[in-house]
Amino acid sequence: MSIKRKYSKPFGDLNTLKTSFFNNNDGMLDMADGMADVLLMQPKRTKCKICGAPLGKPLYHSHRIGYIECRECGHLNSECEDTDDFASKVYIEDDYSKNYSAADKESYIRRRDMIYAPKAEYLRDCLKHEGIDAKDVNILDIGAGCGYFVSAVRQLGMKAVGIEVSDSEVAYGNTVNEEELLTHIGLTDSIGYIRKTDANVITAIGVLEHLVHLDENLEAIRDNQNIRYLFASVPMFSFSSCFEVAFANGYNRHTGGTHTHLFTNESIEKMAEKIGFEIAYEWRFGSDINDLYRFLMVSMQKNHNEEFSSYFSEKFVPLMDDLQQVLDKSEFSSELHFILKRK
Ligand SMILES: [Zn+2]
Repeated sequence: MSIKRKYSKPFGDLNTLKTSFFNNNDGMLDMADGMADVLLMQPKRTKCKICGAPLGKPLYHSHRIGYIECRECGHLNSECEDTDDFASKVYIEDDYSKNYSAADKESYIRRRDMIYAPKAEYLRDCLKHEGIDAKDVNILDIGAGCGYFVSAVRQLGMKAVGIEVSDSEVAYGNTVNEEELLTHIGLTDSIGYIRKTDANVITAIGVLEHLVHLDENLEAIRDNQNIRYLFASVPMFSFSSCFEVAFANGYNRHTGGTHTHLFTNESIEKMAEKIGFEIAYEWRFGSDINDLYRFLMVSMQKNHNEEFSSYFSEKFVPLMDDLQQVLDKSEFSSELHFILKRK
């Protein structure tokens, strides 16, 4: 398989980490509905979040919100804008306790190694392919959360620090890592950090879609010549979006909640072009089939077929990796990791 275009990875134990999606569908759905209430109070979006082209009529509605496909770049935009007001209301602080135990550290490392280490290895391998050794990689991770990715890349010998708006996540990550890897910043401070960083790689894992001022962050990357690469993962307009439209009672993890717009192959290309970068590497692995499976299970359980849902599950689960691989290869699947390179 080419390193430049990679498809799929096994779900493996990832399912066990997402059980709240299965066991607490209605609770999660309520939370997303609350965020939709906030989004619907925001001004109508008039132009595409990525390319700025004027927007027309919604292509479809899901969970009360209309979604408009940009005619220029295909980017999927919710009908209402994500604003500072929206961000301040929906990015609720997680409740991390102030006393961290050894068990926390163990689960931190397990999560880091299961989810973030493969991403870190992918970045290392791609940069190696570019002729850059791990020791020469210097990363600024934006939206670093608890620092899982920063910690994972440092394990591989790359230099990395992170910035993050949640001060409890910063405190937790720094405590577990026993080092000040993360800095707490305000909602729009990332722009200034990007402008003055001496890092040669910016990483943003599941972050770009949340930035209200995405344009200014991208301009800061464009203007800082130290930055040669951008490694990001983003949610894509995909089969997951379609499944959510069909299952109105399912928790809309993908096109809802804090996700007010979704990327397409064309909109990522457009974004790269705008900042003088090009797409150098793509790793496509979605969780569309996982979403479909979850919706089918939740629906069967809601219509009193709990026992039959286990029967179905035994038949279906062994096929999920293969099914997802088909969707990944169609290039209409729910998540893309990519590396943009300065031209
Ligand atoms: Zn557009």
